Amino acid sequence: MQQFDRFKEQISSASPKKIVITTHHKPDADALGSSLGLARYLKKKDHHVTVITPSDYPSFLFWMKGNDEVVNYEDKSQRELADRLIAEADLIFCLDFSCLNRLQEMEGAVKKSNAFLVNIDHHQNPQYFAHFSFMSTKAAATCELVFDLIVMLGDRELMDKDLAECLYAGIMTDTGGFKHPNTTKNVHLVTAELIDLGADNSKIARLIYDTNSLNRLKFLGFALTRRLQIMEGCQTAYFTITKKDLRKYESQTGDTEGLVNYALSLDGIKIAALFTERKDGIKISFRSVEEVAINKFAAAHFSGGGHKNAAGGISQLTLDETVEKFETLIKENKHTLLNLPESVHEI
Ligand code: 5GP
Ligand code: MN
Repeated sequence: MQQFDRFKEQISSASPKKIVITTHHKPDADALGSSLGLARYLKKKDHHVTVITPSDYPSFLFWMKGNDEVVNYEDKSQRELADRLIAEADLIFCLDFSCLNRLQEMEGAVKKSNAFLVNIDHHQNPQYFAHFSFMSTKAAATCELVFDLIVMLGDRELMDKDLAECLYAGIMTDTGGFKHPNTTKNVHLVTAELIDLGADNSKIARLIYDTNSLNRLKFLGFALTRRLQIMEGCQTAYFTITKKDLRKYESQTGDTEGLVNYALSLDGIKIAALFTERKDGIKISFRSVEEVAINKFAAAHFSGGGHKNAAGGISQLTLDETVEKFETLIKENKHTLLNLPESVHEI
């Protein structure tokens, strides 16, 4: 609580603070929405605020208010500016992650800074690196926590339609469109307030879920027909996507988002994975049904983590070797992972 008071004192200070807000590599709607929503709030408190992302993000998020002013650390022409803003910051907010290596190339600059660090996050197994941490693994989204924090600071009236739409987007996507088990009463209460503030829920759903390029739809068709594997007897299905596949369909950042859910939607499947060959290794997305804790599997074997039913990881093996390792691990651990009796053979 002492740290909360120190934090509140800085935010409420009459002298404007230099603030940087950042989030994880390849931000999703919750990462970017919470960052831009918080930035809008802090600007209303007269602070100098810049959102710096460690990488680019999907174009279906560009509609968010404040998107035009985001600094992309990966963009070499913006690197010097970003490093200066980080070095000079009084406060740095880290949103939607709690393990500094998720900043990738930006990690060093943030570690070096003397700023007051604030961490707002809802992932499992947080690492407490910040001076003030506002965390709850029960929260469905970081956007939900940003809303709760602004209310706690007594500034509910500073929230407007643009801020509400950024926060709504993150809550909508991190609950899988209000379908996942994390869709709590508080989620609905916060969402109701955001709609009351003017968030256009139907417009946001269309902008995020129903704005596809023709290439993305063709890629989806290709992945479903040519790249989906089912592991018989293991209730597991996965996609493998090569660099060549991505090039062929002129894949843009965000084009593979949601793909892994098609594997999980198969009747009888409890574990789904997506292996994508990227320039920095094989990026893995994991999904599971309620009773299977896939984040522990991701942490134990693929240098990753996340939530119980939605996690990620990375592998430096080749795509084929990574898939082989995954298949072996699933076969070896299926009884524990899926809570199966030793003698039963499923699909
Ligand atoms: P996605 O599959 O949508 O990229 O990620 C699913 C969840 O896992 C997200 O909450 C994301 O933050 C988390 N996640 C994805 N990749 C990693 C990773 O490499 N390390 C950790 N710790 N979490 C990850
Ligand atoms: Mn999130």
